Amino acid sequence: MLVYHLPKTLTRHCIRFFTHPSRLPSQFHHIPTGTNHLIQSLCQQGNLKQALYLLTEEPYPNLQTFELLIHSCSIKNSSFDARTVHNHVIHKGFDQNPFLATKLIGMYFELGLVDSACQVFDRICKRNVFVWNAFFKGLVKVGYGDEVLCMYRRMNLDGGGSDSFTYTYVLKGCVAEESEESFVEGLGKVKEIHCHILRHGYWGNVHVMTTLVDVYAKFGCVVFAGFVFYGMQVKNVVSWSAMIACCAKNGRPFEAVELFREMIVEIHGLVPNSVTMVSVIQACTALCAVEIGRLLHGYVLRKGLNSILPVVNALLSMYARCGDLHIGRRVFDQMERRDVVSWNSMISSYGINGLGKKAIEVFEEMLFSGIHPNPVSFVSVLGACSHGGLLQEGKILFESMERDHGVYPTVKHYACLVDLLGRANRLDEAAKVIENMQIEPGPTVWGSLLGSCRIHCNVKLAESASRRLFQLEPENFGNYSLMAEIYAQAEMWDEVKRIKNLIEARGIQKLAGCSWIEVKRRIYSFISADELSPKNEVVLALLVKLLTEIKKMGYVPHTKVVLFDTSEKGRESILLAHSEKLALAFGLMNTNRGETIRITKNLRLCEDCHSVTKFISKFLDREILVRDVNRIHLFKDGVCSCGDYW
Ligand code: ZN
Ligand code: ZN
Repeated sequence: MLVYHLPKTLTRHCIRFFTHPSRLPSQFHHIPTGTNHLIQSLCQQGNLKQALYLLTEEPYPNLQTFELLIHSCSIKNSSFDARTVHNHVIHKGFDQNPFLATKLIGMYFELGLVDSACQVFDRICKRNVFVWNAFFKGLVKVGYGDEVLCMYRRMNLDGGGSDSFTYTYVLKGCVAEESEESFVEGLGKVKEIHCHILRHGYWGNVHVMTTLVDVYAKFGCVVFAGFVFYGMQVKNVVSWSAMIACCAKNGRPFEAVELFREMIVEIHGLVPNSVTMVSVIQACTALCAVEIGRLLHGYVLRKGLNSILPVVNALLSMYARCGDLHIGRRVFDQMERRDVVSWNSMISSYGINGLGKKAIEVFEEMLFSGIHPNPVSFVSVLGACSHGGLLQEGKILFESMERDHGVYPTVKHYACLVDLLGRANRLDEAAKVIENMQIEPGPTVWGSLLGSCRIHCNVKLAESASRRLFQLEPENFGNYSLMAEIYAQAEMWDEVKRIKNLIEARGIQKLAGCSWIEVKRRIYSFISADELSPKNEVVLALLVKLLTEIKKMGYVPHTKVVLFDTSEKGRESILLAHSEKLALAFGLMNTNRGETIRITKNLRLCEDCHSVTKFISKFLDREILVRDVNRIHLFKDGVCSCGDYW
């Protein structure tokens, strides 16, 4: 065995040196000078080599000595020393000791030596719950999610008892990154564990139930997460944060902000932490609620959370994506430390504002500062090229991905490339790219092609793309409506009817258009309705008045975007009830001149709403910002920042 050898005299000198009261931390003053204690204090001081040397001289090392040695091996990240200590544990007859087994298992997982951890686990004849938990924790850590549930079942067969930690690890195993299971199988496992938790009486455990909320959130099951959350008798900040994050990340930003309000103001008076802040700021970003966002920024500064990187990243993104690009940039410039997420946020923010050149500039700055781009960086910069119409630059960047940066293109990157070519009316080239793809294109890429076909009204190519999409995503209403829109543009009414019949025959649910607007720090939501609701009467009256005025200025309703009504009058009234128009009229009624109106929409802004907003911005001399799924539109003096190209 290779041990670090010191000359005997030097060793003695060292022992005296290290055990001299002035050299030891206060808790080690007055310790007896037994070798066990000496080894322990050497471990505390980070001198693992010498501690190991002394271990060979100690005939009766105790549990605490081994515990500290094992801990030191993890800290020093030394696999060789780890095995040495393990050998000593076995030779001294401690290999059946459950306490040391948990420590050894933890150490081996920490060092990434999964096989060795398994060996320790297998050697133990009588495993208690701590040994099992250490093993589960390790498996989750290395991403062996699939194994966790198998082992959990084995544990139950062995008759081992579980505790609250067992359930949190097993739940985390269901969402561990390396898990290759399908969504349905994964969710099934979570439900199985949920049943076990209830059966074993852990429904009152905050820790377990919060993890359950978190895991359901990761599967996008907001309803189940809410069911667990509202059923909890005791909730702490972490539980609230988990539920707020669940809403923010699953397309329920409105609910996320309301929950936050409930958490700190209305009912519970809890103090949010950085995780809560990140989620609620992200929700404000989704809602374009920059006024609430500013309040949150103030809160972050007051609570000293502004040194936490994810919080600052969320703030930067909030400003930049809600139209306050220059403030977003200021936050970015003032950051003491930036990670790849900060850079990606800045790049994509320039992108959705249509500033492709700026986005590329920031991307290059990032490379210059030594940050390695990740796959998201390329999605951001390619998307920016697409919105900025920078065809050549985008193509060069795509080619450089794998060659210069070792980032392999995924479907998302191909979708960006197809979009880039498509927008530039290089549809044939885009189709060729899809043909030559090394990976399965999937709905993202075909959807991108179909979107481009709509811009340039290419029926033939659109048909081939939609055929694939109808197979791949038979339930997605958006694809059918996009294809119908393309037929309507080409005035192929029989085909429009065919698509309409297809939708009815397949029983596909239409995704309702929804828009949000923030007025005096409250968020209001509007849903597009096929029929005019009396609830919106005042808003509609204003809209009708405005439409009459702008018609005099040359506005013509784009009734072609309405697919399912034959009479012209009926189509116009459907257009009138589009959620973004309702939100706009509501905003006009409740804000002062000079204030920018900010609206977000869950779908793509339709041609008619785009045109109406342009006219109204001129007629009322107002600045109106609308963010749809694609980008930011800033309407001013009758023109839109997107150049009618989105
Ligand atoms: Zn519309
Ligand atoms: Zn626009």
